[in-house]
Amino acid sequence: MTDPTPRLRSTDPADGGLVAEFDVDGPEQVAAAVARAREASTWWAGLGFADRERRLLRWAAHLTRHAEEITALVRAENGKPRDDVFLELTLTLEHIRWAARHARSVLRPRSVSPGALMANHAARVEQRPLGVVGVIGPWNYPLFTPNGSIAYALAAGNAVVFKPSEHTPAVGRWYVEAFAAANPDAPAGVLSAVQGGGETGAALCRAGVDKLAFTGSTATGKKIMATCAETLTPVLVECGGKDALIVAADADLTAAADAAAWGAMSNSGQTCVGVERIYVVREVRERFLAELEHRLRRVRAGVHYGPMTVPAQVEIVRGHVADALAHGATARVGGAESVRPPYVDPVLLVDADEDSAAVREETFGPTVTVRTVESVDEAVRLANATEFGLAATVFSRGRGMEIARRIRAGATSVNAVLGFAAVAALPFGGVGASGFGRIHGAEGLLEFSRSHSLTRQRFALPGMALMSFERTARTMRLVERIVRWRHGRAR
Ligand code: NAD
Repeated sequence: MTDPTPRLRSTDPADGGLVAEFDVDGPEQVAAAVARAREASTWWAGLGFADRERRLLRWAAHLTRHAEEITALVRAENGKPRDDVFLELTLTLEHIRWAARHARSVLRPRSVSPGALMANHAARVEQRPLGVVGVIGPWNYPLFTPNGSIAYALAAGNAVVFKPSEHTPAVGRWYVEAFAAANPDAPAGVLSAVQGGGETGAALCRAGVDKLAFTGSTATGKKIMATCAETLTPVLVECGGKDALIVAADADLTAAADAAAWGAMSNSGQTCVGVERIYVVREVRERFLAELEHRLRRVRAGVHYGPMTVPAQVEIVRGHVADALAHGATARVGGAESVRPPYVDPVLLVDADEDSAAVREETFGPTVTVRTVESVDEAVRLANATEFGLAATVFSRGRGMEIARRIRAGATSVNAVLGFAAVAALPFGGVGASGFGRIHGAEGLLEFSRSHSLTRQRFALPGMALMSFERTARTMRLVERIVRWRHGRAR
């Protein structure tokens, strides 16, 4: 008797109730999905920008008309409150719209100067779709995060095979089926999903996709790179962060505290660009902390944000809080008792050791550390003293942009939190252990296309053929004179 197909069950993090059940897709099913996508990619690429734009906007309209269905599903699998899901959906729709409407102008062919040596040639760059893009997503923003790759890959003319997180498979299926419902004449493989955990993801890496776009933890990002290296499959890697918020002496402290509270706690702190560390200059420390404490005392798990989505994450948060407290931190709000699975109430850790796990590692929970610094320079130094480099926040009335430019991160928001994530035209992605490559904006479209350089000889220059066995000594003497005149004069 052969083994039955393994099953994947997704559950409601609040009560453990079953939400959905799927067959796990193994290498054969994944290969079949990629083959279907390959076939569909020719049709999709052949539509051209205007037709793809119409179809992507139809998909967005379908998602909008069925907002309550998808909102309920995200709430069931991820646990976040209904309004937060609606906000996530809103940003998802904005990105589909931006990608659809800008693909033509970003990816249009460009003529470039042929240069002095090739003056008799025309030269141009044309962007082509890659073909089939594999997308592997996380569970924390199960719509917004994978959509940052999927919408841009589709708009650039690629077919997509999407593996949602094993914790949010029903959301992934619904999102993919919405595309088919909005485009009933499209072949099945333009956008499809495969279901399963890490093994299914690894099978997708090996299935001959033309690029693999991954969003998830740094540890998994390294595995994805290693697997994709086997077939020289290019990767885009969006990983975790340990984002800092800097409060300068001239900051609007009320606004900074409000942003810090929301940036650290919303979505149960399960936000890759969530605020995890705060550096506040000494002169405003007490006033800032009082404002932050006042706000956090009113924030409740289960009301303002949901349960932790994944039980294992609760244990990481518990460990980080315990480690910080054991190494000199004071819990000004909450403490070890805040961890009451599946919920974690806000924890405000003051003066944690910079070497403690709560400061060095991604916590991904509703906790935040606050450290006092003597100057903005020290704040910038400590903010940058991390292997991660995803995003940051700066509060300063007069020097915000100047401070922001000194932070080693892919994005920084000044005098507000997470501003960059809501501007569709801005590229999004990290440096260091936060990954590489960019989604969103023009860079996000270029990421899912390849350049094709074309030259065309417009007319022959008699006697000037350089790349020919007919080249003459006279031609070379002329070239040498030109080269010396052009490149040899600078002193
Ligand atoms: P994860 O790394 O555990 O899993 C992410 C995805 O990778 C899942 O779909 C999983 O099934 C798959 N996977 C696991 N092992 C694999 C393997 N060996 N080969 C191929 N695929 C594999 O991450 P998570 O817990 O789902 O998500 C949380 C993490 O994602 C956090 O670190 C967070 O910061 C990060 N994140 C980053 C961004 C960003 O844009 N930079 C956005 C959201 C979340």
